[in-house]
Amino acid sequence: MNNILNEIKNAKSIGISGHVRPDGDCTGSCMALYFYLKQNLSEDVIIDIYLEPIPEEFRIWEETNLIKQLYNKNISYDLFISLDNGSLNRLGFSKEYFLNAARTIDIDHHISNDKFADLNHVIVNASSTCEVLFDLFEEDKIDNKTAEALYLGIVHDTGVFKHSNTTEKTMNIAGKLIARGIPFSKIIDETFFLKTYVQNQILGRCLLESFLILNGKCIISAVSQKTLDFYYAAASDLDGIIDQLRVTDGVEVAVLIHETGFHQYKVSMRANGSVDVRKIAENFGGGGHIKAAGCTMNGTLHDVINNLTLYIEHQLTGRS
Ligand code: AMP
Ligand code: MN
Ligand code: MN
Repeated sequence: MNNILNEIKNAKSIGISGHVRPDGDCTGSCMALYFYLKQNLSEDVIIDIYLEPIPEEFRIWEETNLIKQLYNKNISYDLFISLDNGSLNRLGFSKEYFLNAARTIDIDHHISNDKFADLNHVIVNASSTCEVLFDLFEEDKIDNKTAEALYLGIVHDTGVFKHSNTTEKTMNIAGKLIARGIPFSKIIDETFFLKTYVQNQILGRCLLESFLILNGKCIISAVSQKTLDFYYAAASDLDGIIDQLRVTDGVEVAVLIHETGFHQYKVSMRANGSVDVRKIAENFGGGGHIKAAGCTMNGTLHDVINNLTLYIEHQLTGRS
């Protein structure tokens, strides 16, 4: 922990990034670290954030407009910090900055973390990277924007304090953040629950077209690129659908598959019971957590479903 603070103190330029397809914890942790460092470091330290486009609903601070989306080979950093990300490749375009930086830090909570930086601070029992950051920060140096960003990440990775990764500590941290007077209901409503009309339509379609296999223990739904195009929707418009699939009575594993290219699919998995979906995802080069994991798979949709369900079936029948 002291090492991390020392590295930060010694840097004159700091780059911050998170995983591809940023979610609430990725966006929240990048923004929280940015706000915290801006607030507490000297003004002449350069601090830049790099992320793929973030979902509209996370643009709750003007500073999200400062997030950069392009790699510039003429720029390199004294220190590059990867947040909420388990592997070098999942940094996407910002991987180049990471590779060119003098020093690197990885702050994360994924079990499947490759420890790819000079300093790796990976707390696997933390609900979120935002929870890990809260512990690194000095409490009296957390301003309101930092508090809001931390809250955003915790809310999203815990599914609003309901997933099994929520601990007494998570709630204590959330309590401390709320005590600062941040608009917590608004953050929950407007970034988590609020859906556009189109997002609801796609949710409806995914539920309608879903099917149960393995004696009702596994639910699967797939979305084609054609469907997304029809609704002028982006992949981030699918956020939350997997959670609705997961709460189907009797289901132990929920799978949402969406087409990302020719014979290429992004797979999201969530578990209710004893199935470890991270193990399944790792077989296909992905990762995540025991109850929430993902991977990218190649082949036809039938290949993807066949290959995936074989592993799910093995786990359900105890042949892991
Ligand atoms: P998702 O289903 O995309 O919401 O992801 C669930 C969890 O698995 C998150 O913690 C992700 O960071 C992780 N994850 C998703 N896709 C991958 C992947 N291809 N490789 C490693 N981790 C992943
Ligand atoms: Mn994430
Ligand atoms: Mn996370």
